[in-house]
Amino acid sequence: MQIIQNYINNQLQNPIDNQWIDNYNPSKGEVYGKIPNSNQKDVEQAVKAAKKAFPIWSNTSIEERSEMLIKIAQLIEQNFDEFVKAESQDNGKPITLAQKVDIPRAISNIKFFAKAITQYNSKSHESVHTNSINYTLRKPIGIVGCISPWNLPLYLFTWKIAPALAAGNCVVAKPSEVTPMTAYLLSKICIEAGLPAGVLNIIHGLGQTTGQAIVEHPQIKAISFTGGTKTGEHIARTAAPMFKKLSLELGGKNPNLIFADCDYEKMLSVTLKSSFANQGQICLCGSRIFVEESIYEKFKTDFIERTKKLKVGNPADENTNLGALVSQQHLDKVYEYIQNAPNQNAKILAGGNKVKVAGFENGYYLEPTVIEVNSNRCALNQEEIFGPVVTIMPFKTEKEALEMANDVRYGLSATVWTSDLNRTMRLSNELEAGIVWVNTWLNRDLRTPFGGMKDSGVGREGGFDALNFFTEPKNVCIQYD
Ligand code: NDP
Repeated sequence: MQIIQNYINNQLQNPIDNQWIDNYNPSKGEVYGKIPNSNQKDVEQAVKAAKKAFPIWSNTSIEERSEMLIKIAQLIEQNFDEFVKAESQDNGKPITLAQKVDIPRAISNIKFFAKAITQYNSKSHESVHTNSINYTLRKPIGIVGCISPWNLPLYLFTWKIAPALAAGNCVVAKPSEVTPMTAYLLSKICIEAGLPAGVLNIIHGLGQTTGQAIVEHPQIKAISFTGGTKTGEHIARTAAPMFKKLSLELGGKNPNLIFADCDYEKMLSVTLKSSFANQGQICLCGSRIFVEESIYEKFKTDFIERTKKLKVGNPADENTNLGALVSQQHLDKVYEYIQNAPNQNAKILAGGNKVKVAGFENGYYLEPTVIEVNSNRCALNQEEIFGPVVTIMPFKTEKEALEMANDVRYGLSATVWTSDLNRTMRLSNELEAGIVWVNTWLNRDLRTPFGGMKDSGVGREGGFDALNFFTEPKNVCIQYD
């Protein structure tokens, strides 16, 4: 049994009320650890520690904070294999994905914000005719709450805590209860790095109790949340009357628009990834594929053939393309969408079945699934499934493709495959999405604003946008004689 503890005031400790939750290994469907089922009392203790630490941490020099973050990143690098193994085991994702994406990008997040803070600046406005100068101070907010989901555990956790700490805040953070392991390993790294007590506190537990206690706490002045739209709505309702600063990165139902003039081979291999990477459990996956009519039949044949070749299996095996879904509950939810497909005039073209992996019979495995739909209005195209399930349908004109792409409540990302520059410009302008990728996918530059339109979120993180979120601007106006 692997026991995970809370990290409060630079110490690892059991939950105050000694309540615990089982932690599952999704590849085996077995409990392999215990995590704290923390409550208000644990959150209160973390807030106290953070409050005590804030005057000291917020007054350290930028260089000191930057160096501390670099040290933490380097210690993760030194323990790279342990983090990779833990992420794959805890989440069910292929070890190769944790190796190439999750852990390297978590390290990059920390290093990026360690450097970004040294370049962060504020504005001044001179007004000669009134002999005045205005300048803006950017102050750390105080204690901030960071809540992250299970799909890219350490990657999204560090995406929040790194800019928060770099900007001089103290943090009370909660990883998803389903995937707490790498956040726990990070707590040990912070102790080793000598992060001052109370600067970062990591509390484990359920969203409805631990997460809720963080969102409700009056001394936590800002909440950065990544997760489902429904949870985001609930958090907004709780936090808004308390006038908390909120950043919400929520769900998606992203369109993938494929035109006949694209680089076909590149499109095919990237579309396979944008459909099924991380078992389709990435908020940026292109789950609605629209293909220009003239190449639809060819695409359908080739895409199905490639999909059927993907290997579902033990995440620890380096040849595995798709590991296990994150939990039994999530597997059931995704499978229900597949079972309901025929009721929506939709046809399963590939996959659609649960998979029994030899030696891992109780794991949560599902075939990569391609469903042909004949309307963008069906539930399969309107609701976030968040699993290895994509829909395909043809379109006749660019206008029709654009209308279907935008006809959804979400607006996180969109991908366009074309070699026509004019079309690229038109669609990039018109697509309702926080990110538009043209002839690429999941290509991330950390300096860019990240977030969604419509029901995919509020606000932007990434680059200086994240530092703007985690600081309070204060304008000072001075008049001189
Ligand atoms: P959830 O919304 O269920 O949970 C996200 C986090 O919020 C978890 O830590 C959860 O804890 C916690 N939580 C749940 N209820 C509350 C509450 N009342 N108050 C405070 N915290 C709470 O999302 P999932 O973990 O299921 O993640 C999948 C979702 O995340 C998808 O919709 C996906 O699109 C979205 N996502 C969005 C991204 C983006 O950048 N826009 C990126 C990645 C994912 P617990 O797990 O313990 O319940």
